[in-house]
Amino acid sequence: MKLLLVEDDPTLAEGIAEFLRGQGDEVSVESDGMRADRLLQETTFDFVLLDVGLPGLGGYELVRRIRKRGQRMPVIVITARDALDDRIYGLDLGADDYLVKPFELAELSARMRAVQRRGRSANASLGFGALVLDVDGRLAELDGEALPLSGREWEVLEALVRADGRTVTREALQGEGSGNALEVCISRLRPRLEAAGLLIRTVRGFGYRLERARERRDRADQPSP
Ligand code: CA
Repeated sequence: MKLLLVEDDPTLAEGIAEFLRGQGDEVSVESDGMRADRLLQETTFDFVLLDVGLPGLGGYELVRRIRKRGQRMPVIVITARDALDDRIYGLDLGADDYLVKPFELAELSARMRAVQRRGRSANASLGFGALVLDVDGRLAELDGEALPLSGREWEVLEALVRADGRTVTREALQGEGSGNALEVCISRLRPRLEAAGLLIRTVRGFGYRLERARERRDRADQPSP
């Protein structure tokens, strides 16, 4: 696999590169965000590992540019900051996963494999509970029955399913429409999904996430500490 590692800490970069080369990957290392951005336009990589704090151009801006150009290779963001908002921000911009420093190389390799597995199945279909989305065909099925969706409903649902139970921010779901339009869209989706045991849960002041109804009940059943 042809891999680009963008990391400005030479010791860390060398350690990761050596480990990945040992696994048989072809690794290019870049320490500057601007140079990495140029390299990404000249060369096709199968995978990108990206530090957040970089000279030239930050890792988050780099992810944004990669996705804006329509480049779809998996991207894992490596960050020293472990604030929740930061991690979600990176995922919203199009990163597939994140790793918080310091991490074990074995964890890096496990995350990379998981992201690749997800990527392969993403081309065929995405699923969450009784819901299956055929991404290429833009067809949705719920409990084996066709689920008709407007364009907007499709976009919201696809984002929620891709997040796989993680919260997606309102900003990420809003697209071009107004905040109210998003609420209308969610309220149209809810009863249809609930019939099949799926809930769109509101995370107040933040966004939405998909849950299986049973999970929610189980959590509610737990005695409060
Ligand atoms: Ca750095």
